[in-house]
Amino acid sequence: MKLYETSSIRNIKQKHEFKFTKSLGQNFLTDKNIIDEIIQGAEISEDDTVVEIGPGIGVITYEAALRAKKVIAVEIDKRLIPILRETLQGTDNVTVINGDILQQNIDSFTEGEKRENIKILGNLPYYITTPIIMKLLEEGVKADSITVMMQKEVADRINAGPGTKAYGAISVAVGYYCSVEKITDVPRNAFIPQPNVDSSVLRLKLRKEKPVQLNNEKLFFDCIRAGFGQRRKTLLNSMQTLQGTSKDLIKEALDAAGIDPARRAETLRLEEFAKIANEVDKRL
Ligand code: SAM
Repeated sequence: MKLYETSSIRNIKQKHEFKFTKSLGQNFLTDKNIIDEIIQGAEISEDDTVVEIGPGIGVITYEAALRAKKVIAVEIDKRLIPILRETLQGTDNVTVINGDILQQNIDSFTEGEKRENIKILGNLPYYITTPIIMKLLEEGVKADSITVMMQKEVADRINAGPGTKAYGAISVAVGYYCSVEKITDVPRNAFIPQPNVDSSVLRLKLRKEKPVQLNNEKLFFDCIRAGFGQRRKTLLNSMQTLQGTSKDLIKEALDAAGIDPARRAETLRLEEFAKIANEVDKRL
């Protein structure tokens, strides 16, 4: 019997009197093809250290352990720790940490490893997808890539380009730190229990160099937030909400950046946000 088979998961549940906790985003994968796509998408080699977010009963963990030098898996639910001890028997390169991924210093797990040999992956708990991704990126986590499954709508937003409905602050923010590739879409029937939404797997490859030169990184993110915070408004109007600015200052900055003040944030490329931020910064 294979670990990912529905009957195995049912047996484990029964033996350990385990009940799924919806509020922890517990939807476990039952489709081996999808597990393989995540593993292949993460491009794991035998020199790699894998950090897994939310191992559940260990279906991805087990496959990663077969390919990587070591795996560190962070699971918040302490009821799953004895289950993982059992399901990961036969592997000797996995460390399971019982804790909240949002509270972990992930770099401390991979000390001494080269950046290109650190791969982060996971079937993310959907209630905290964006906080997890933004924590990793904003903290500048030492890793080559982050290959993660998430709700399809969130993946579509992260992967969207200017001029589309899905394009928003998160598309620009993630694009600043990473190049984004979709690995696959995943139907809702690939999980037990079945969620109400479909999913996608994205690979976020961390950029070695940032795509734009910024004088003030915080202001760049403030500009993105201001622009998309009022996405129906023109830039001239939405950008005025930036602290310490005025209509005149924004008009001057947009003119200097060569950007029509009547445009809306949803039409701007990352490079254009960077230009605006640098011009506003000069005038503050
Ligand atoms: N990897 C397993 C799979 O694919 O079958 C389980 C994935 S399930 C979508 C998400 C997992 O993340 C659950 O095991 C859940 O308990 C765990 N989890 C939820 N919140 C967490 C947090 N803040 N930190 C670490 N793990 C968390």
